[in-house]
Amino acid sequence: MTPFSYARAGDAGEALRLGAIAGTKFLGGGTNLIDLMRETIEAPAALVDVTGLSDAIEGTDDGGLMIGGAARNTAIAADRRVRTRYPVLARAILAGASTQIRNMATTGGNLLQRTRCTYFYDNEGSRCNKRSPGQGCDAIEGFNRIHAILGASDSCVATHPSDMCVALAALDAVVHLAGDGGRRTVPLVDFHRLPGDAPEVDTVIRPGELITGVALPPLGDGMRSTYRKVRDRASYAFALVSVAAVLEVEGGTVKEVRIALGGVAHKPWRASKAEAALRGQSATAANFRAAAEAELADARPLRDNGFKVELATRTIAAVLEELA
Ligand code: SF4
Repeated sequence: MTPFSYARAGDAGEALRLGAIAGTKFLGGGTNLIDLMRETIEAPAALVDVTGLSDAIEGTDDGGLMIGGAARNTAIAADRRVRTRYPVLARAILAGASTQIRNMATTGGNLLQRTRCTYFYDNEGSRCNKRSPGQGCDAIEGFNRIHAILGASDSCVATHPSDMCVALAALDAVVHLAGDGGRRTVPLVDFHRLPGDAPEVDTVIRPGELITGVALPPLGDGMRSTYRKVRDRASYAFALVSVAAVLEVEGGTVKEVRIALGGVAHKPWRASKAEAALRGQSATAANFRAAAEAELADARPLRDNGFKVELATRTIAAVLEELA
């Protein structure tokens, strides 16, 4: 590991002041960043510990919730308001990692975690455009069972590893940021990037910017939500495919639906084609299947991950049937 300095920020102002120095990274629970530093994939000159900043989960004037950037994953999943009003989020968090990791992992860190592409972590033996831009991508012609089927590029076919972010995408969550240019908000669905020709850039966050919180808009009384994760083993595994969905059915007709997919793209994938195909239609198994097929029509599977197309189609349909 490359030597680095460490400082603990007492408030957001101090964090921003320290974080403005080139080569500095903010440190949350460290459940991904420290691994990356050990492998010398990340080598910040300084770490600013922001775990002492806001970890509150507070009600907002519009009836939603504001989750502090330093709120631990375990605390969010255990919050009574999250469990009862946003079960999709509680279930997504509990589907991720292990209890020990969830106890450490923060909201900001979860949003900024990097892909678990094995070639990305193989610093010595593999080519990776995300780790070393312009080097090439050994996953494209390599063992790519866990890689993307939607929105990938010739530069990178990695997937985003988060479960929590998939739920946040389905909930229309909004990321709150602070930087030396002031405060701004970014919809969660626009926070993570597709790889294009710059896969080294995971998100739209600017240098020195800090995630201060994530806002959850209120869900209507008739809206039900859930999360389903399909993986190789029952715990402590990343998603092959996951589905977060919010559904409101009235008189047998889909009044509102939001669907996000994990394990299929470089970012949480909002299934807008499936949503458009379902709004105003009968809430039937046939329509759920047809909508899922419409979403996956653009899938471009690689050599080893063609199974994800049918797996995602079936999982979307099954989750919507469960909610309906
Ligand atoms: Fe690197 Fe992306 Fe290729 Fe994986 S898929 S090796 S992260 S460029």
